[in-house]
This record gives sequence, C-alpha cells and structure tokens, in this order.
Amino acid sequence: MASQIEKLHFILIPFMSQSHILPLMDFAKVLAQRHLTVTIITTPLNAISVKSIIDQAQKTHLKIGLDTVPFPSQEAGLPQGCESMETLPSHDMAKEFFVGCKMLQEPIQKLLADMQPRPSCIISTNSLPWTGKVASNLGIPRYAFQTIACFSLLMSHNVGRMTLVQTAISDTEPFVVQGMPDKIVLTKSQIPQIVTRTGEEDRKGIIDQMIEAERLTRGMLVNSFEEMEPKYVEAFKNMGKKIWCIGPVSLCNKEMSEKLERGGNKDSIDQSLCLKWLDSMESNSVIYACFGSMGIIPSSQIIETGLGLEASNRPFIWIIRKRDLSAKVEKWLEDENFEERVKGRGLIIRGWAPQVLILSHPSVGGFITHCGWNSTLEAVCAGVPMITWPMFSEQFYNEKLVVNVLKIGVRVGVEVAMKTEEGDKVYVRREQVKEVIEQLMDEEEKGERIKRAKELSEMATKATEEGGSSFLNITMLIQDVIEQITGQ
Ligand code: UDP
Repeated sequence: MASQIEKLHFILIPFMSQSHILPLMDFAKVLAQRHLTVTIITTPLNAISVKSIIDQAQKTHLKIGLDTVPFPSQEAGLPQGCESMETLPSHDMAKEFFVGCKMLQEPIQKLLADMQPRPSCIISTNSLPWTGKVASNLGIPRYAFQTIACFSLLMSHNVGRMTLVQTAISDTEPFVVQGMPDKIVLTKSQIPQIVTRTGEEDRKGIIDQMIEAERLTRGMLVNSFEEMEPKYVEAFKNMGKKIWCIGPVSLCNKEMSEKLERGGNKDSIDQSLCLKWLDSMESNSVIYACFGSMGIIPSSQIIETGLGLEASNRPFIWIIRKRDLSAKVEKWLEDENFEERVKGRGLIIRGWAPQVLILSHPSVGGFITHCGWNSTLEAVCAGVPMITWPMFSEQFYNEKLVVNVLKIGVRVGVEVAMKTEEGDKVYVRREQVKEVIEQLMDEEEKGERIKRAKELSEMATKATEEGGSSFLNITMLIQDVIEQITGQ
C-alpha cells in the first residue's frame, strides 16, 4: 500500500465559511501526515486566509498545495469581494451565495481535468453537493466531509421524517424525536428553519437534490470519533450508509505555533499578551466566551452578555467579532468604561481569537459556546465543560448531545432560535449568564463534569493516534480510494 499511497492525490474543496475551511485545512494536514499529496481548492480571498497554514505545513515537508478559481460574486448578485458566508451583508443573501458556489462547478472541473498528478478523489464539505457530479465526470470518487456529528446527522434525518414539523403543533410544545437511541425532547422553534419554513414544493426539490448528491457520493467522513457517540455511529451504519469517523481533526495542531496559526488573524490580539494573561490565572478558573463565525448577534444582546460576564465575578475572555462591534456596542464599551471596570480579570478580544490555543490552556475552566460543531468538538478535545447557548441551525441538536448525552455542559436556557429579522433583541438576560456560570463552576457539581470532559478528551486523543479508531478509519478511506481508482 505504501507505494500506492505515494501516487495518490486528494482534492479537498471546502464550502466557503470558516466552519468548513478550518476543519478541512486540519484534515488536509492529517492526510498529508499519512504521506498523501493534497490540494485545497478555494477562491482567491479565502486562499489568503489559509495561506499561512499551508506555508507552515510545507515547511514541515507536508505535501499540501493550494489552487484557486475566481468567485463570481457579481454574477451571483452579491457585492464584490463577498466570497464567504461571513462576509455576506445579511443571511438573506445565502441563496445568492449558493448560486455563486454552484457556478464554480465548471471552472473547478476544468482545473481538475488538467491537473497533475491526476486527482484520485474529491473530498468536499456537505454544502457542495455538485462536487459529486464533478467527481463522476472525472471518473473519481467523491466523499462528503460532514461538519456535524453523527448525533446531529441522525437528528436531522429523524426530524425531517417527522411530519409534525409541517403540521399545526405549536412552536413551544415539546415532542420526543422518534428513532433516536436516547430520549431527546425538542420543540419546533429549535428546529433549523430550513426544515420548518420550506414549502412542500421546495422541500421536494431539496430532497431530490440530496438524493442525487448521495447517489454520487461514495461515503461520508464525519468530523467526530466513534467512542464519543457509539450508538449514533451504529445507527447510521445500520441504515446502510458508508461512514467513517475521522476526527477530531483539530487535534492535528499539536505545536503552539500551529494552534496560533490556526487562529488566523493575528491583528485581533497580541498573542503573547493573551498567553501571558492566561498563564497568570488559576487553573480551571477562566470562562471563555466565543460565538463562532456565522451568527449576527443583536447589539443589545452583546451588551447584556458583557454585563452578565462582569456580574459573574469570574475571570473571562470574551470575543466580540468585528461584525458585532456596532456603533452602539463601541459606544457602550467606551461610555461605561467597561474594559477598565473589568481590568485584571476580563480580557476582550475584538475580532478573531486563537480558539484552539485558548481552549487547550489549563486555566480555562468553562466555555460559553453557540454550539457550532467545530467549537463543541474543540471543547471536547480540550476537556473543557460548556455553557450551551445555541443560536440557530443544528446548534440546538449539538446542545442536546452536550447536555443530555455526554453530560458535560449546562444550558444557558435559550428556547428559541435567534432570528435576524427580529432586530435588536435580548434573548438571554445578564442574570441568566451570571447564574449559569455559577452553576457550571459550582464546586460540588463541577468535579463530575470535569471528570467526564477529561475522559472524553483522552478518548479523542487516543482515537486520532496510531491504531486509534479514527486513524484506522482513515486507513480504510485510503484503501477505499485505491480500490475505486484501480478497480481492485
Ligand atoms: N474560531 C476561531 N476564532 C474565533 C472564532 C472561531 O478560531 O474567534 C474557529 C473555531 O475554533 C472553529 C470555527 O472557527 O473551528 C467556528 O466553527 P463553528 O462550527 O464552531 O461555528 P460557526 O463558524 O459555524 O459559527
């Protein structure tokens, strides 16, 4: 197999959002560490954000390349320079963004057809179903990289099948999700809007597209590990699906420099200052609050969150993304002299933080998270208990996994998904933030939760080490590609 591996060339195509690009960059490193040649395909502006990770990988002789195709922003009806979900002026433009992505099909196919060494397979994230067609036209297999856990995949499958989401059941009436190995109770307002708001006609269209994409997909690669959710992996395999859990991929970032580089934008904070600050805190004492890359948080909610963190009287690191730094938030920070008020125990990072680095620091004792899958899994890897604050999409499913199944988190208590059209609204009050921090850090209950979190963290590391479940699943994936292209 070793000589065959040397000849393989894996093509990785992430959907253009940080929650897809970052794990696929990690997976590129994992594959290159197994002596494969890997090429990432993205658009010029997204290439800039990953270039330094690739440069660093190349310095360690990993064979990772980068190729670009221009993004047709204007043809798709988007502002110029808008090449990622994070740069969309509003979530209402997601449809145009998907149209733009679909337009990449032809140029990518052309690029791959002329590429040397010849591509052996395409691995693309789940939001790019048309890459299945590109692969089939080139006569190579396509694998779908799932950026959610088997638990949430199964939830999506089962909730989608339940006709009640289309019927008159009220938004707040709890119901049990049928077909889940554990009892999971949900309400309609926690279901991703794509399921509840889509009309019958569009729904059929989406389902048809999904069936077609599945037909052209050889298997699913899930950024998760079997030991964390064995019943859910099993349930999926029993449905006859070819899936391999290959994560957590972020664990490939072992060195401090890699963790810093993955954090990307170094302009947001002097990283040595951030580390010095963390070093100065007691172990397990700091609350880290960060809400991912996608959501747009109302200004009043940002302010309320800050007041809750302040009221907790605990040390904290609070990330306020650039897009959330509205004039109102800036004015509040300044008028209230907030940073001065929390000086010494509160660190505010405006923009982008080196999250994997922060989470793995021993002084971090809790993570207030929006339950994006990457963030959730990164907390599992670091053995950090969570305060779950889902905002939309499958984040409510991830909350169920963290709180009800893994039992390593407590809910902040949101019942409904955040909707941008609702304007400047407070979903979680400062008292709730304060109370839930107290609950998470409560000495009596804390011990058990930390113990479980640390056990899961050890399992995650073992899964990715030589001989571990995810390591072996990657071996099976490589074997599968060899079989597919050589017909063996
Ligand atoms: N992230 C980061 N720094 C930040 C915010 C996010 O490095 O300040 C990374 C985080 O580590 C994770 C990804 O961005 O890998 C966010 O993905 P997730 O699925 O958690 O949330 P989403 O982007 O979908 O909101």
